[in-house]
Amino acid sequence: MGPPGAGKGTQASRLARAIGIPHLSTGDMLRSNVADDTELGRQAKAFMEAGDLVPDELVTAMVIDRLGQDDARCGFLLDGYPRNPAQADALADAFGEDVLELAILLEVDPDELVTRLLTRGQQQGRTDDTEEVIRNRLAVYEEQTAPLVAYYESHGRLASLDGLGSIPDVFGRIIEVLAT
Ligand code: ADP
Repeated sequence: MGPPGAGKGTQASRLARAIGIPHLSTGDMLRSNVADDTELGRQAKAFMEAGDLVPDELVTAMVIDRLGQDDARCGFLLDGYPRNPAQADALADAFGEDVLELAILLEVDPDELVTRLLTRGQQQGRTDDTEEVIRNRLAVYEEQTAPLVAYYESHGRLASLDGLGSIPDVFGRIIEVLAT
């Protein structure tokens, strides 16, 4: 978990590779549906471009389908899901309360986030990395996703760490947290 620009995707892909489990990024899955112009992609596109959440029922169906595939049987790393309490409930309803072992939260100062995302927008051409959409994504995170932090914390399933620093430094902190 972490706000947009915290480095979730980068760290999740390294961690999944290190552990040998699939990295399931809902953002990547949705972007690939948009690129392939699927029915889901057509329904999701406008929400993503505005920086709003894609409706829960669409994303949840996509995640449940993906988690049912063979390669996720021995574990998986979810990146970008659940993103609000309703999604957390849907996941628990489908796979049981213990489906997620640990939530890892990357904490980063909001001013740093905007700078990171604007740079990424220039480098990768992601259409939701413009200043106005970034501000909305940060607001959506604060309103809808941040409340989940307390939920995982109260269940003793939260590991928070400082997301500032080089990619290997942050990765080292994640490994440290997992080893304890
Ligand atoms: P970031 O976290 O940097 O905003 P993501 O790649 O995780 O980037 O998500 C990009 C967009 O995809 C989000 O702004 C949202 O529109 C959509 N999205 C991704 N995951 C979800 C989800 N779990 N529920 C609803 N929408 C989602």
